[in-house]
Amino acid sequence: MIILPKEVAGEIYAHVQESYPCEGCGILVGALADPKKVVKSYRAVNLNQERAQDRYLMDPADIARAEREAADMGLAVIGFYHSHPDHPADPSQFDLRQAKQITDAGWPPIYSYLIIAVHNGRLEDINSWVLNVSQGEFEHEDIKTD
Ligand SMILES: [Zn+2]
Repeated sequence: MIILPKEVAGEIYAHVQESYPCEGCGILVGALADPKKVVKSYRAVNLNQERAQDRYLMDPADIARAEREAADMGLAVIGFYHSHPDHPADPSQFDLRQAKQITDAGWPPIYSYLIIAVHNGRLEDINSWVLNVSQGEFEHEDIKTD
């Protein structure tokens, strides 16, 4: 379970709707308690210009900044979000590969991957996923908005 406060959700929704028809992406900062709690979101630049409709590559500088500011607040990067313009809020094979690369690089599989479906520029659906390393696939994670 991941707790997503309404005001943070609102910022994420605004970002991904503005990004349409490209993918918008960003970083989730919060507390790694059980359940996880998002405190703040950071917009990231999508460096993938050629396929910005269905790919994203977050600017590492944006991730580094979020990590620094999270540490200053006694928090951590707990996940990432990105949108699927005119596609369901389910992870693609590309999303799975990216998540596996992160754990293969030695990061613990703690991250939540929020995927937001945006249809015709309007918010349609949101899901959260966590990587199950032993099974090599994503598991659905409940989102609680408060
Ligand atoms: Zn995706």
